[in-house]
Amino acid sequence: MTKNIIIGNIPIELERKKIKNMYLRILPPKGQVRITAPLRMSEEEIRKFVLSKLDWIHTQQQAVIDRHLEEDINYVDGDAIPFWGEDYTLQIQEKNGRSKLVVEEGLLKLTIRPEATKEQRKKMIDSLYKENLNHEIPRLMARWESTIGVKSTGFSIRDMKTRWGTCNVRTKKICLSLQLAKKHPKCLEYVVVHELVHLLERSHNHVFKAYLDHFLPGWRQIKQELNGKKTS
Ligand SMILES: [Zn+2]
Repeated sequence: MTKNIIIGNIPIELERKKIKNMYLRILPPKGQVRITAPLRMSEEEIRKFVLSKLDWIHTQQQAVIDRHLEEDINYVDGDAIPFWGEDYTLQIQEKNGRSKLVVEEGLLKLTIRPEATKEQRKKMIDSLYKENLNHEIPRLMARWESTIGVKSTGFSIRDMKTRWGTCNVRTKKICLSLQLAKKHPKCLEYVVVHELVHLLERSHNHVFKAYLDHFLPGWRQIKQELNGKKTS
């Protein structure tokens, strides 16, 4: 039997089965949440679990939506490619020789071999993302490290789909998602600040949020935008 419930503004399909453990799944294409719970588990218990996982659920939902959107991009002529929060039109010129990508007033002009695969065309866009992030991040890190009063040991960029960033509080190394180059630059700034604040406070508790409120008062709105929810 399936029941529809709402916890923390999230609609959830709750299914009961004769099982031992509870399972939470986030389904494509829209990130619908489905929980399969043991017959005897109370709704209160389920509610507590979901509320403790809200941040994670939002991130996963966005990842599912993004992955679905990404599958829709074939990297062919005329495709809309997100870059720093705006849609650029991909313009492809097929030509033998070295591949080249030029950014020009709303256009991404890609020169590439006619037989190039979708993955090879995507790789060119990904290098543009990486190059731009590598250019922006050191500047942001330097500025925010001095504002916050912490020092990281450096950063790396990875094509993470489920998280925007991570901070290893032991090694003080920060990892940022390649996907951030698709979003508005203020989103990158928010994630940099968020990860650096982890060097002051490890968990997402009230102290952590108080630091964010202090350093970047508009962070909640940026976070919502980052996770694709409409803000008013
Ligand atoms: Zn965090």
